[in-house]
Amino acid sequence: MTQENKIERVHCNRCLQQTNHEVIATRVVNESEEIGNDECLTDIDWQVTYTMLQCRGCGTITLRRHLLSYGNGVDETDYFPPPISRQMPKWIFDLPAGFQSLIDEIYTALHANSKCLALMGTRALVDLFMSATIGDIGGFQRKLEKLVEDGYLSKKNREILEPALDAGHAATHRGHDPSVEDVNLVFDIVENLLQPLALKIKVENLKKHTPKRQGKP
Ligand SMILES: [Zn+2]
Repeated sequence: MTQENKIERVHCNRCLQQTNHEVIATRVVNESEEIGNDECLTDIDWQVTYTMLQCRGCGTITLRRHLLSYGNGVDETDYFPPPISRQMPKWIFDLPAGFQSLIDEIYTALHANSKCLALMGTRALVDLFMSATIGDIGGFQRKLEKLVEDGYLSKKNREILEPALDAGHAATHRGHDPSVEDVNLVFDIVENLLQPLALKIKVENLKKHTPKRQGKP
């Protein structure tokens, strides 16, 4: 039975919500494997259904893989790219190249559902921001204080940033499994910290390219 042209409600990464998706193509692959040893061999059968879906709102394509194993009751569904609840802001491209490549890798980790890796990346990003703005003046705490003193970070945001960075630290050292909400909060705060730098660079570039006002001859 063909599934093409069928409509399904699926999360869209661009519309950031569940939308109607058209089923473009479906392929079913049946596989089996013998497991065990010569004395006790067992056949495991599974079926993988690949479904290509297109959002009817924005046209974004998503691939769904549904794995069903009859022998051991496995029933799993994955999406490629995985459902994410944020997109990279456009102002990121106004930041220096070093920031952009790191942010690119952080978002790649996020899109691969590697939340710990993404959090570790945001901590490295804050370090990079500190080096670019206040320089290497001591430990992490001292640098945070300096960010507040120099007006890069409000006292209130520092209070939020510290536990957020601690979540990144816990992800690195204590095997903490951050929730999607935790990760989104860290991204909100860190992007809030970086955006004024992007804006400053953009304004400086604008000034450079604006012709100087000519005085009267
Ligand atoms: Zn969409």
